Formats: sequence, C-alpha cells, structure tokens
Amino acid sequence: MSDLYVDGVWCDPVAGGRREIRCPADGTLAAVVSEGTRPDSEAAIAAARRAFDEGPWPRTPERERGALLSRTADLIERDGDHFARAESLDTGKRLVESAYDVADVVSCFRYHAGIAGTSAGRVVDTGRHDAISRVGYEPVGVCGLITPWNYPLLQASWKVAPALLAGNTVVLKPSELTPSTSVLLIRALEEAGLPAGAANLVLGPGPEVGAPLCEDPAVDMVSFTGGLDTGRRIMAAAAATVKKIALELGGKNPNVVFADADFETAVDFALTAAFLHSGQVCSAGARLVVEDGLHDAFVDEVVRRARMIRLGGPFDPQADTGPLVSAHHLEKVEAYVATGIAEGAVLRCGGSRPDDPALASGHYFPPTVLDACHQGMRAVHEESFGPVLTVERFHGEDDAVRIANDTEYGLAGAVWTQDAGRAERVARRLRHGTVWINDYHPYVPQAEWGGFGHSGVGRELGPTGLDEYREPKHIWQNIQPRPQHWFAATGRREVDRDPHRD
Ligand code: NAD
Repeated sequence: MSDLYVDGVWCDPVAGGRREIRCPADGTLAAVVSEGTRPDSEAAIAAARRAFDEGPWPRTPERERGALLSRTADLIERDGDHFARAESLDTGKRLVESAYDVADVVSCFRYHAGIAGTSAGRVVDTGRHDAISRVGYEPVGVCGLITPWNYPLLQASWKVAPALLAGNTVVLKPSELTPSTSVLLIRALEEAGLPAGAANLVLGPGPEVGAPLCEDPAVDMVSFTGGLDTGRRIMAAAAATVKKIALELGGKNPNVVFADADFETAVDFALTAAFLHSGQVCSAGARLVVEDGLHDAFVDEVVRRARMIRLGGPFDPQADTGPLVSAHHLEKVEAYVATGIAEGAVLRCGGSRPDDPALASGHYFPPTVLDACHQGMRAVHEESFGPVLTVERFHGEDDAVRIANDTEYGLAGAVWTQDAGRAERVARRLRHGTVWINDYHPYVPQAEWGGFGHSGVGRELGPTGLDEYREPKHIWQNIQPRPQHWFAATGRREVDRDPHRD
C-alpha cells in the first residue's frame, strides 16, 4: 500500500522506504507502512502551499467546511471497529479503550462541524460616519501537525478538525510508532470530499520528516504534541521563520487528596488517574499528594489495589491495562523507577518487569507506587509517562497548593475533599490548565485543553482552540475617501488632522 498522501494522491516515498509496525503487546506484525524522508515532506508542504494559495479549500464557506467535517465524523463512526482495531494493534491499548477514543474523535469532528459559522467576527464602533471597521478571521495558512503515539487518532483529530474548519491546509505527521489510524483518518477525509492538497500525510521519523515542517518557510504554523525536549527543538526551529506555534508538552500532574475525601471514590480514581493506559497519558495523575492523617491508610489501599491490576493485550477481555508503546520506552520507565529508588523513594509495589511468561514478548511494566517522595527528587519532577505513581505528603491547604504547584509543567490536576469551600479555593490556586474537583480525567471538546508553564503554548479544544488556527484580521473601510493633504506642499491642508486617528 502507498501510505503517503500528497496533493490528493496516495503515493510511495521517494526513497521507497517501508516500516514494520509491531504490536507492543506481543511483537506480532501490525502493519507495514510507507516510511518517508525529507523530500516527501517537502513535496507535501509544497502541495499544501499550492492548495492554500490557489485551491478551493480556504475560500470554501465555513459552513461547507463544517459539513465536510460532519460527513467525516459519520464515516469514522461507520468504520469505528476498523479504526479501533488499528489503534489497538499499533499502541497495544485495550480494544475497549480504542473504541472510546474513536467515539471521542467522532465527537470532536461533530463539535467542530457544529461551531462552523458561529463566530463571524465583529463590527467595531469607529465613532465616525465615514468609516467602517470590522474584525474577521482568516486561516493561518499551511499548518504542520505533528502528533505522538499515546492517543494517535485523538491527537490527530484535535489538530486536523479545527485546522481544516478554519480554512487552513495541513500536513499531518503522526508518530512513526503509530501511523495506522492517521492513514485511516486521511482516507475518511478523502471520502468525505476534501479537495486535493488540503490535507496531506507524511510518515517517518521526526528528525527526517517532522523537522522540515518546522523549518520550511512555506509552513505558517506548527502544532505539536509530544515530549518537552522535542517541543523545545521545534520551537527553536520554528523561530527562524517566525512560525506560529502550538505546543502540548505533557505534565507532571498532582492529584491532591484531603483527609475528608470520600475514601472509596478517591482511591478508585487515584488508580485510574495514574494507571489508565499504563500511565501513557499527558494528564496522568502521576503525583499523589495526600494529607498527613490520611496518608498511611490511603496509600496502603492504593498499593493493595494496584497489585490487582491485570496486564494484557488489546484483545484480552481480562486485561485492565496494556503494555508500554516500545522497548525503548519500557527502558526509560525502568530507569526512572531506579532513579526514584536511588533518591530515597520507597518502592511499595511493581518496579520490575512482570515474570508472567504470557507477557514476555510484550513491553509490559506493572503499576508501580513510589512512596516517601519529596519535592527534591527528579522522580517527582520528570515525566515518566509510564505506570509510576509518586506519593508526597502534605499538611494543610497551603502546603497542598505549594507542593501541587511545584512543577515546571501545569497541564492538569485534581483536588479531593468534601468541603466545598476548600475544593473551590484549592482549585483556583492550582496553576494547571484543567483542574478536576472530586474527579479525574474527563474532558469535553467544548472546554479548552492546554496548560501553564512548560506544558505548552496554546489551547487545543473549545472556541479558543479554534483560534489557534486562525488569525483575527481587522478591516477598516473609509466609506468617504477624499484627499487629506497631510503634507502641505502636496496640496491645500484643510485642517490639522492626525492621520492615525482620523
Ligand atoms: P516525541 O516528542 O519524540 O515525538 C512526538 C512526535 O514528534 C512524533 O511524531 C515524532 O516523530 C516527532 N518528532 C520527533 N523529533 C522531531 C523533530 N526534531 N522535529 C519534528 N518532529 C519531531 O515523543 P516520543 O519519543 O514519542 O515520546 C517521548 C516523550 O514525550 C514521552 O516519554 C513522553 O514524556 C512525551 N510524550 C508526551 C505526550 C503528550 O501527550 N504530551 C505524548 C507522547 C509522548
């Protein structure tokens, strides 16, 4: 199969590369896909540029663009099982979770279809009878969309849907580890009738096919989700051509539990917060911050239940969670746990690869709890992006807020308490883009998603998520043009007028 999509044509890479995608759960062959190189990216960028400058998409009325997104949602829903299966094979995540992701993707496309044409701009009062002033929205231009491996289809959709709705043309570059559902997504857009060049797809390693999206002057914007170090590189590369950027770079998210929290519910959600998708979630509640008096009972119960979480492949109905995405990532998570222990953390459960022979050919790592952690530890500050929960204690509200905010990130966090006033006070003081009260992980496409600090730049969802992909443009129209003669020598100066104001 030819998996690169350039100017409305499915094509092979210039250098003819192929890549085997192996399921992280057992190493079986999941797919063989095209592997691009720099010239493929350059061709995709050129196609997107032409389509933006000359093609119909940016000039299509927004409601029609929304209608296409709506048709795309219908097609993804129609082929939902196929999407979910492909996502599970690439990522190793449980099929049921992939099915939830597909449902979220359908909602994302429908949401953007629904807001089409609802923000037409505004008229500004000039205070004058001879001029009209208005602010409307223009697409940014050519957008490079670079996505990670943890929620490949969802992350692609969060970028593709608003970018296309706003009238941009795009080049999508998914993670080389998990490309399959991006191919399916582009096929759905094609079937829905997207004009040639409006969406292009390149596959391959970041430094090879992703980097040109950040460097090429023909690209106007880069939207990236992934690791902090890569984000920094992308920001630096984009600076040379002053590209607009949106970055979602993860988090080290605190889950703050006060002693008066509903014990059962808070324990249950602490597990989901930390171990959903084996912790490979940018908003994972990887830092449990527990009030002194509750600490021992709470952590004992979290550890007891964490040991019960069953690992298994995507199609194992008994499995609670799946493998890590790659052998490399597994090694990284192992090294992170070793660092934590060397720093003085107490390993309460997990911490080494499972010895179950049925899991031997997958990249499995068990839910791991590191207790007695404190703010000085690297393990508390760096993202493991695996199933590793660090535990810190606090004493009182101020202490809880101070510890929870002591991170260079600021993506998400939660507070658990039955005291409504305290819940509100703490939620307001947490310097994180999303704060859940007595809950963890839900999101809605109507609300903005993005973070403070090093978690990134820009918002991915909600009405201002769309604003990342369009530029406000002020249009002033003089409706009684006449000579001004500001320079007396060029004509009769009628009055002393300030040309910037009048
Ligand atoms: P990464 O940042 O290396 O890769 C993300 C995407 O960027 C991929 O498509 C990759 O090919 C591309 N890329 C890599 N180098 C690039 C470059 N120089 N120019 C342009 N594109 C480039 O992420 P990863 O290796 O997949 O994971 C590393 C870490 O990133 C993880 O351990 C985790 O901490 C973090 N991560 C965060 C999120 C998130 O949702 N914020 C998601 C996945 C990974």
